[in-house]
Amino acid sequence: MTRKVAIYGKGGIGKSTTTQNTAAALAHYHNKHVFIHGCDPKADSTRLILGGKPQESVMDTLRIHGAEKVTLDKVVKTGYHDIQCVESGGPEPGVGCAGRGIITAINLMEENGAYTEDLDFIFFDVLGDVVCGGFAMPIRDGKAQEVYIVASGEMMAIYAANNICKGLVKYAKQSGVRLGGIICNSRNVDREKEFLEEFTAAIGTQMIHFVPRDNIVQRAEFNKKSVTEFDPEANQAQEYKALGLKIVENENFVIPKPLSMDELENMVVKYGMAS
Ligand code: ADP
Ligand code: MG
Repeated sequence: MTRKVAIYGKGGIGKSTTTQNTAAALAHYHNKHVFIHGCDPKADSTRLILGGKPQESVMDTLRIHGAEKVTLDKVVKTGYHDIQCVESGGPEPGVGCAGRGIITAINLMEENGAYTEDLDFIFFDVLGDVVCGGFAMPIRDGKAQEVYIVASGEMMAIYAANNICKGLVKYAKQSGVRLGGIICNSRNVDREKEFLEEFTAAIGTQMIHFVPRDNIVQRAEFNKKSVTEFDPEANQAQEYKALGLKIVENENFVIPKPLSMDELENMVVKYGMAS
């Protein structure tokens, strides 16, 4: 059975970085066959896996060559440890709905049989805080069964995580999607771990892993590589290995109970982030 996983979180929080590094660790250390489907119009969900190999997005291919040219050969690229990569892409800037592109791209991948049965994991790396329209599609239509939210101890990241949970609750009954946990991608905020632990317990989930902030992530990125490929002995590679294993072994899937604005404000004040 292929596990279909959606990664959500505020823009810039580290979704694409965490997705690719976790995918690389799952492939390298845990022998898993992984597919990454980038669902951000920025189309930067796969470069660490492809070593900077150019990847034409589904929406670009569709626009330039037409639907019949959107073949797996053309839009699916294979990178590090046989990880399969596709990017939805988006409409031309300022024109059309970016969310539609995601729906179109996922449907085209399904029609073309891209999500083969030998895959252990498909990761949908989904743009941000917006749990509306097309961005909700992976969780709305049952394209993904499990969700991880990337957050940090920064207030806006927690607000976004709470909002994403509200969106998830809306679709959970009809689509069966569940929250598997919050990944803390550290910003070195004071008492970050405690805050995240209190927040995740309050909404009924877990902090599945605390990923430290480490400059090796950037060094690997400059080299167009995941940390695992760049330096498998590095501490940070062990962190992604540990996160990968926790995802493999996870059994904690819930419909979260998002906080009210008052509850959230109180928690923020308690951790001294209101000032
Ligand atoms: P998102 O996909 O959520 O918009 P990105 O994955 O592009 O965010 O992350 C933004 C930047 O943050 C990346 O360019 C990366 O260099 C940096 N980053 C992410 N996670 C870490 C980390 N754990 N340690 C150091 N830098 C990180
Ligand atoms: Mg991204």
